[in-house]
Amino acid sequence: MRSRLLLIALGVSALGSSLWGQNWPFPARPMADPLPPLAAPLIDEGIKTLVGRLELEKYKATIKGLTEFGDRRQGTDRNRAAVDWIEAQLKSYGCPTERVKYEYSPPPQQTDGRGGRGRGNNGLAQGGGRPRGIRTRTGVNTDPMAQPDEKLRALNMQPTTPGPREEVLCTKVGATHPEEMYIVGGHMDGHGWGEAANDDGSGTALVMELARIFSMPDVQTERTIRFALWNNEETGTNGARAYIAQRQALQGKEDPSGSGRYPEPKWLGMIQHDIMLFDHGMPRADGTISPEQRPEADVNIEFQVASKTAEASMKLAWIFEVANEKYATDYPAAVGSHMTNTDSGPFQDIVPSISLRENERGAQIGSGWDPQWHQPTDVYSTYSGKDFRLGLNAAQTTLGAIAGLTGTTLTK
Ligand SMILES: [Zn+2]
Repeated sequence: MRSRLLLIALGVSALGSSLWGQNWPFPARPMADPLPPLAAPLIDEGIKTLVGRLELEKYKATIKGLTEFGDRRQGTDRNRAAVDWIEAQLKSYGCPTERVKYEYSPPPQQTDGRGGRGRGNNGLAQGGGRPRGIRTRTGVNTDPMAQPDEKLRALNMQPTTPGPREEVLCTKVGATHPEEMYIVGGHMDGHGWGEAANDDGSGTALVMELARIFSMPDVQTERTIRFALWNNEETGTNGARAYIAQRQALQGKEDPSGSGRYPEPKWLGMIQHDIMLFDHGMPRADGTISPEQRPEADVNIEFQVASKTAEASMKLAWIFEVANEKYATDYPAAVGSHMTNTDSGPFQDIVPSISLRENERGAQIGSGWDPQWHQPTDVYSTYSGKDFRLGLNAAQTTLGAIAGLTGTTLTK
């Protein structure tokens, strides 16, 4: 119902009302709306061609490649080896890479999780949404012996240690506006003693596939796109926070002066992909989950209504919903207002920010809709063709939306 009301609001705004300018239905905020108009009714044939270059088998193969490094827990050799592998892939696509380096030490008494369910005493889920219906327990598996596959158990055995960390980015530089960019992210670290196939191999592979396609020699964008494979998400989005701390003040500065080069283009939006595959519905009364994907499966696009960029982020979310209608082959998208617990969170008061997921993170995943989440069962072999196809549809959604936002064309 909330979604329908927002859609009506946008429709009225598009007819020329000043509702949007009055920030209805939100209180006035200082943030100007930097996004282009929502209305762009026609399918762009060039973008459609580009979206058609996404292949299910390639997406699956990239997820499989990531799972070869086990759960990729931050602060381990298997995590560092995965960063190296991701960088080698991006380079092979022709996407120029760089690394962000930072230090990470866990705060005292924090284990590797998020420290509790964070649900307070107000009955709300994380992010502020209202849990509905049947709920089951969730949490992070911290018992290595819970992994029945001995080979995988051994692969995941090295414990995390505090110290230096690295994460890899690659960038498609805009031809006419290199000084402005969208950031497209997923997180390459995981935990729970599985393979972090869905959380977040599925989002990492999505971002890598987009980097591959946007780096093809006949693809030109007006604006810049940065593909970010965050580390340390599972400890509290520390990799994304390190990026912001090091780079926020550098935005839009030409360096060297007169070179036409912008090492840190101005941020126009941040789009995060985290847990893309599993939409099997609410737990049943007995706590079990359907082994089949639900027929109503969709891509959940969330913004955070309590953020400083709420109106612009809401618009960005609907731009993605419109792109899904145009370019996604199988599954629709739904917009929600409670983005939470992922790398777009640290950006949400700075720049329009959204997340794409299999379900709403707070009210649905947080209520037990994904029984593999942070568990030893989050392995590649758990997921079916339909699950992977849902992730591919999120990739089609983001590719179509970002291609439109960055002015992408195909040269002959
Ligand atoms: Zn995640």
